[in-house]
Amino acid sequence: MHVKKSTWRRPSRRLTLLYVRSTVLFVKKAELHRRIERYLRLLSAEAAVGYVTYAIKEPLSVRRHAEDGIPFYVGQTSNLARRARQHLLRGGAPTNDRDSVYWHIYRLLAANRMPRFVVLERTTTRASALESETKWVQRFLEQGYVLANQWSEHKAGKKKAVVPSNRLWAFTLAEALADDLKLQIACCRCKTCLLLPLGTVMGAASPTTKLQDLRRTVSCPNCAFVPCLEVSVASNSELM
Ligand SMILES: [Zn+2]
Repeated sequence: MHVKKSTWRRPSRRLTLLYVRSTVLFVKKAELHRRIERYLRLLSAEAAVGYVTYAIKEPLSVRRHAEDGIPFYVGQTSNLARRARQHLLRGGAPTNDRDSVYWHIYRLLAANRMPRFVVLERTTTRASALESETKWVQRFLEQGYVLANQWSEHKAGKKKAVVPSNRLWAFTLAEALADDLKLQIACCRCKTCLLLPLGTVMGAASPTTKLQDLRRTVSCPNCAFVPCLEVSVASNSELM
């Protein structure tokens, strides 16, 4: 009698190990994902009116809610949970850029450790949030910590917490009004200088319009030159 030889073979030891290892990794990854979601729910309790300045820290202890740790990044946001989610998502992929905040986040997550988001200060307007961020960056740098912050005002040695005008162009009209920013036509071609009260501009454009969009569209009333707008923090503001 002819018996057909079975084509099934016992999987090699190597293949079995590979299967077990990938299953363990998968379970670990799912557990990490659950930990991240739990942590983000905790952070969402931080949602408040205004802005928070936060540090991302490498935890020193296993105490989950402790605020100790080594800061490696300082940021500011109007929604800490949303910002933390963005950081953790981007930090979930490896990067070779060791200067990047995501390199630090990936290193921690890969070791099954959760980066710690710690609230440093609360502010009410966007310019004061930016000023607070720079102040805390400089404070940590003076204490000898190495931060992944890349903005020019976040480099070591910047003494004053000034908000550079290039940051102000990203403000909406509503944010500019809350910070009492000074918007004016300062034409470099015909030298026309004309203050544009933000309240008046708001009558003609939506509060969510960004100042950089106005810069692209508003032309000099005298010679039609574009761009002719200038923005600054009002001179009587404490920010300067
Ligand atoms: Zn002009």
